[in-house]
Order: sequence, then C-alpha cells, then structure tokens
Amino acid sequence: MKAAEDLRRTLRRIDGRGYKAYKDIEGTYDFGSYILFVDHVQGDPFASPSRVRVRVPQKVAGFPKDTYHTRSREVALRDFLTRKFLEACRKFCRGNRGTGHSGLISIDRPGQEILERTSAFVTELYVEARFVMGLPAFGRSIAGRHAEAMFFEELPGIVRSSLFFKSLDEKALYEHIETAEDADFLRDQLDSLGLVAFVADGAVLPRASGVDPRPLTKGRVVPFESPESLRVEVVLPNRGAITGMGIPKGVTLIVGGGYHGKSTLLRALELGIYDHIPGDGREFVVSNPYTVKIRAEDGRRIEKVDISPFISNLPFGQDTREFSTEDASGSTSQAANIIEALEVGAKVLLIDEDTSATNFMIRDHRMQELVSKDKEPITPFIDKVRQLYNDLGVSTVLVIGGSGDYFDVADCVICMVEYKPQDVTQEAKAIAEKYRAERKPEGGESFGRITERVPLAHSFDPSKGRREVKISSKGLHSIAFGTYNIDLGAVEQLVDISQTRAIGDAIYYATRYMDGRRTLREIVEAVLRDIEKKGLDVLSPRPVGDYAAFRGLELAAAINRLRTLSVSQKVF
Ligand code: ADP
Ligand code: MG
Repeated sequence: MKAAEDLRRTLRRIDGRGYKAYKDIEGTYDFGSYILFVDHVQGDPFASPSRVRVRVPQKVAGFPKDTYHTRSREVALRDFLTRKFLEACRKFCRGNRGTGHSGLISIDRPGQEILERTSAFVTELYVEARFVMGLPAFGRSIAGRHAEAMFFEELPGIVRSSLFFKSLDEKALYEHIETAEDADFLRDQLDSLGLVAFVADGAVLPRASGVDPRPLTKGRVVPFESPESLRVEVVLPNRGAITGMGIPKGVTLIVGGGYHGKSTLLRALELGIYDHIPGDGREFVVSNPYTVKIRAEDGRRIEKVDISPFISNLPFGQDTREFSTEDASGSTSQAANIIEALEVGAKVLLIDEDTSATNFMIRDHRMQELVSKDKEPITPFIDKVRQLYNDLGVSTVLVIGGSGDYFDVADCVICMVEYKPQDVTQEAKAIAEKYRAERKPEGGESFGRITERVPLAHSFDPSKGRREVKISSKGLHSIAFGTYNIDLGAVEQLVDISQTRAIGDAIYYATRYMDGRRTLREIVEAVLRDIEKKGLDVLSPRPVGDYAAFRGLELAAAINRLRTLSVSQKVF
C-alpha cells in the first residue's frame, strides 16, 4: 500500500500529460482514517468514469453491531450508507471540472426500494463504499490539480460525513434498518398466516405519476383502510402491533369501477416483494417473495414451452406441448409467461385485466355456443385458476372489473370504492347463485403437467466484435447480451437498472451450470446459492459498485427472452 502523498506526487507529475498517464494512479493508498482503492482508471474523459473504493476501518467508522447484526439490518444499513454517500457527493463535489465526466464523484442511486447493493458493505472490520470518479481533463490533457482537489478535499469530506457513524442522523439510520427488518419479518409471517399479501392500514399506495415512483402527495390521497372482515394484526419486532388487510391464499378478485384504485392496489402488491424506505407509504405492504406479475406480451419469442394446460389444437396441428414461436400472440404469450413462472417456482400470480388478453381470461356462455370447444385452442384462465390452487398450491390475485363469471371461482372478492377496499365476497357469491353463468367448464380434470426445460449453453453467445464478453444494461428493461438485445419491458417487477445490470452478468455466469442436464430452475437456483454464499461479487471478475439484488424469477425471465435461447425439454 502506498501513502496518500504518493498519489499527490503522481497527480502533480502527470499534470498536463495525455490522459493515458492517469493509469499510473491505479493502486491502494493509505489516507489515515481510510484506505483508497483506485481499481480501474477510465480510458478517456468521456468513457465510463473510473472505479474507486474507500474502506474505513470500524475503529474509525464506529458502527455499533446492532446496526448490522441481522441480515435485514445489514442490507438496510448498506442501502442507507449508499444514500448518504450520494447526498454527500452532491454536497461536497464541485461537479464539472473540464471535459466529459471530469469532476464527477458519484455512487449508485437507490430508489424507493431497499435492495442489497454492491455500492456499500459493512463488516465487523470495516465499511466500504464503491463509487465512480470522472478523472478531470481539459480535452485529453490531465487536469492534475483538479484531480488533487477531488481526492484530497472533496472525497475526505464525503467519506467523513457519510461513512462515520457519529456523523449520521442516528434516528433516521435506526428508522431505516428497523423498517426493513419489520417488513422482512412481516413478509416471513405471511405463509403461516395463510396469506399471500398484507397491506397495512394507513399505507399510501398511489404514486406521484406514472414515471415518478415517489408517493402521491398532490390533491386528495386516500390512505389504505382494510375492511373489517379481512383485517389482520401482526406484532412486528420494532414497531409493535400493526393492522392491515390480509389477502388470503386461493383466488382473490379485485373488482370495482374504473378509476377506483384497482390497478394501484395490484401494483403495490407486485412491489411488495421488496422493502421500501421510510416515507414511501408502502413500508408495510408486503407480498409472498415468489409473487409474479403476469401479463400479455405479444411479439415475444417462446422456446419449447409446454403451454398445453392453456392451449391445444392449434391450426395445422402445431404442437403446444413443445411450443415455440418468434412472435407470440397476446394469449399464447400470457400462457407462456404463466408456465415459465411456474417452472421456476412462482407461488402467487398477479394479473390485471388492463394488461391481459381478453380471450385468455374469459370465454362466456354465448361464445361457447357460437364457437365450440374443439374449434377454440384456448382454455381460458377462468377454467384453470382453481386447479392452479388446488393442484399446485399457486394463488392468484386478479383485477377484473369486466367479468362477473369469475365470481364462481373466487374465494375472496374485494371491491375498490373510491380507493377503499370492501369485502364483497358474500354478495358476489349470492349473485353467482342467483344469476347462473351457464358457461361450461372447459378446464378438464387437472391443471396439467409443468414441463421443465434444459437450457443449452451453446445458445448463449455474449461476444461482440473483438470482445469475448460484452454485456450491458441499456436502461431498466433492456440488456445488450453480445449482439442481442433482451427486451424486459414486460418484466414489471424489476425496479432498478442495477438489478438489470446484475441479471445481464448473471446470465453469462449461469452458463457454467448448463451441462445439458440441469434444468433452468436448477441453474437459477445454483446461481442464487453462489450469490448467497459469496455475494453479488461472484458475477464479476472485479469489484463492481453497481449491482443490486434480483430474484431467480427475473433471471429466468431474462433467459427466456434471449432470442437465441435453445432448450430441450426434460424427459420424465
Ligand atoms: P383502476 O385500475 O381502478 O381503473 P387506478 O388504480 O388506475 O384505477 O387508479 C386511478 C387513479 O387514481 C390513478 O391516477 C391513481 O394514482 C389514483 N389513486 C389510486 N389510489 C389512490 C388513493 N388511495 N388516493 C388517491 N388517489 C389514488
Ligand atoms: Mg386499472
């Protein structure tokens, strides 16, 4: 390890020289109260900024053990430190100091969710932050004095104000970690309470706008209020007792007039797989960790999925037990999305009529009369939703304002009235008795078999040009994998581009387990096991500061959307 003064000397020496000379500062420096790692220096002022780490020994950082002694607290503390580091960057960093990214100091930017991230680490020995710096230049000439100011004036201020326990707002810190711990606890309780989701009384579900995930504050905001019959009380480790609406296992409908808050409730359930920051409004809205939002996704590719539980007898005898297409229809894509989710362990399906194929959801009595079953390949979801629960133990929550036929198959019916839920189960059942739907069940005896698939390694090619591996995230819903683009537009439970980035690299990592025998599910589980044991760092040969945790369900969803994917079905 070099002394901090060595860095200063080098910066002065290379001042004014060509940008490449910045490579000389790669290395490790002792700054007294912390260690600085310059891991990777950018190639030019416009390239991705340089990757840097700071490690503060606990002797100096001083975080009490109870701020990170459980897994929930550790993840939440790391999230908190990332946010504080980012705030400090904004405060201490002067910003633009020349060409391109010159002058930038920044760290991964968390949103409303508390996710495990590689931007910050906490152990008994140290806290570490991983961030980026735009090493300054004018044109291509090194601005050494500016770099010196960044390393010796700005950075120490950032580190001191965000990575030292005594500089932080203790109350806010504990609120952050205790909120996350409570939410994790609550989520863990769901199964034994017979629930798939819980929505706390007082929760604020609507968001500021369709593109702004912060809570709605403008105009009238109606806080959530559970109907009495569905109200559940849970005692949380930190906050104590809270009450809210428990959504039971089985089949639940969310009905109600247009614009009364149905989709907003469903969206909150979709994101209930994540913890939320204090003030978000959804801190205690949690769902089963294996909850998957399902939607129609016409145009997607499908590779040898057994969609026969939903679709059979296609024109020209196309096989639906091993169904492939380059361009799925609304209904076949929705069927494949369900089967693929079940294949990798989905436990709860969330479906919104707004984003569903109508012919997949329902076939009413009159249509059954006009088009006989042997001329209709689709078995609508209404005839499968009970079997999903009875045969496979998979629950469904459906937003459906348009078809009362579903009353026959529901265990629980929630009606949204002016953003307030009412339990109308009894009423719906009485109506179903009084006005018989008269439609014939078309679902057969059982749901049918879920056929697992074995991904074949040769179909994954991450190379591009001279680069053997070139993978990057192009926004939240897109991965460039070699020369191919993976479209994740319909994978709606992704919330952070750092998840997308990690998933891109995880696809490549997963290929090591593709031996022609392991199924997709086994491969995804193997990847998650490695991450659990060694951290997200396993996905990269060098320390990366901008990965965020993701589920196996999203990793599988990305693999399924790789247009070159080739699989063989597992034979029984
Ligand atoms: P639906 O699916 O029933 O048609 P949405 O969930 O799309 O209705 O909600 C309609 C509008 O009402 C949205 O703009 C949403 O932000 C807003 N909204 C939803 N819930 C609330 C609430 N609790 N308080 C205030 N506004 C809300
Ligand atoms: Mg809606």
